[in-house]
Amino acid sequence: MSECIFCKIIKGEIPSVKIYEDELVYAFLDISPINFGHTLVIPKEHHESASTIPEHIAGRMFRVGSRIGIALKRELDMDGYNLHLADGQAAGQVVMHAHLHVVPRGVEDGFHWNWRQLSYPEGRMAEIAEKVAGRLKLD
Ligand code: AMP
Ligand code: ZN
Repeated sequence: MSECIFCKIIKGEIPSVKIYEDELVYAFLDISPINFGHTLVIPKEHHESASTIPEHIAGRMFRVGSRIGIALKRELDMDGYNLHLADGQAAGQVVMHAHLHVVPRGVEDGFHWNWRQLSYPEGRMAEIAEKVAGRLKLD
């Protein structure tokens, strides 16, 4: 996609600070990090949604992301890392080229996901599981 900023980063038309590259994926530092070292792993093919990324490329993204997480932990003396992927604007996706965030985390880094915890009404959990399973398409 010619106007996509992440495609431009892959082509070198927009500068980025590279962490890793191979034939399938490119990883670079997020310009506005949650913590220093926050990295984005992107497929070299343009996909808006993670759901259309071929399995071997999605697998490489996850593997590279988790290895970068380990390297960030060791080098920056952090305690853990989050892998985060926003799919769709409602989920917080701003750049419409699928990307995996690798966020190094410290026990006292002061960042919180604001994760709420709802409760299911009786029967709703099983109903959702059955209906979603019926819609699943894996090829
Ligand atoms: P998301 O909200 O999941 O779509 O995340 C997009 C991420 O891309 C944000 O964390 C931005 O800081 C990051 N970002 C946008 N433009 C650039 C850029 N030119 N170089 C590095 N990171 C970028
Ligand atoms: Zn793109």
